Amino acid sequence: MGPVIQSLLCLQKIETQLWALRDALAAKNRSVNAQQRKLLQLQQQTQQKRDQLKHAQADAASQELDIKTQESEIGKLRNALNTARTNKEYNAILSQINSDRTDIARQEEKVLALLTQIDQIDDECRQAQQQIAQTQDRLDSLRRAQQDDQAQSEQDLAKLEQDKSHLADSIPASVLNQFQRVGQNYNGQAMAAVTLNDPRASAYSCSGCHMSITIDTVDFLMSKDEIKQCPNCQRLLYLPPDES
Ligand SMILES: [Zn+2]
Repeated sequence: MGPVIQSLLCLQKIETQLWALRDALAAKNRSVNAQQRKLLQLQQQTQQKRDQLKHAQADAASQELDIKTQESEIGKLRNALNTARTNKEYNAILSQINSDRTDIARQEEKVLALLTQIDQIDDECRQAQQQIAQTQDRLDSLRRAQQDDQAQSEQDLAKLEQDKSHLADSIPASVLNQFQRVGQNYNGQAMAAVTLNDPRASAYSCSGCHMSITIDTVDFLMSKDEIKQCPNCQRLLYLPPDES
C-alpha cells in the first residue's frame, strides 16, 4: 500500500472520529431542544388550564351572587306575604316564592357542578406544575452536561481538524477533493476495502456496496498508489494489507 492510500486511510480514521463527535454534539443539542419544546408545551397547556380555572371561579362567584340576590328577593316576598290584602294576592306571592326557590335549587346544582369542576382543574394545574418542575430539572441537567462537555468537545474537534489538515498536506489536492466529495455521501467514510471472496476464482468485491470488482482494478491498485473508485458506489477503493 502506497503512502497516498495510507494517508487517505489515516484521514478516514480522523473523519470517523470527527463525524462521531459532531453526531454526539448534535444529539445533545437535539435532546436539549426537545426538552425545551416539551417545557414550552407544558407551560402553554398549564396556562390554558389556569385561564379555564379563572373563568370557572368567576362563573361560580357570579352565580353565587345571583343566588344571594334571589334569596333576598324571597325575603322581601315573605314580608309581602304578611301584608297581603287578599287571598289572591297572597297566593300569587306564595307561588312566586316557590318558583324562585325552584330556580335557586337549580342554580345551586349548577354551582355545585362548577365547584367540582374547579377542584378537578385545580388538581390538574398542580400536577402540571409538578411536571413543569421535573421537565425544567431535566432541561437544566441536560444543559449543564452540554456546557460541561462543550470545552472538551471543542478541544477535541480542534485537535482532529489540526491532524486532518497536517495529513491533508501530504495528499494531492485532486485526490483530497475526491475523498471529501465521496465522504459527504457516506458520513466521512470515503474509503472501501476490496475484499477477496473466493481465492480460487479471484472474485473480489467492494466492501462498501458488495458489488464485484474486476481483476483489472485489483491489478491497478496493486501496482499504483492512486485512487480508483468503485464503479457502483463511487467509494475510493484500497487493498487491505492481506490482499495487496
Ligand atoms: Zn462500492
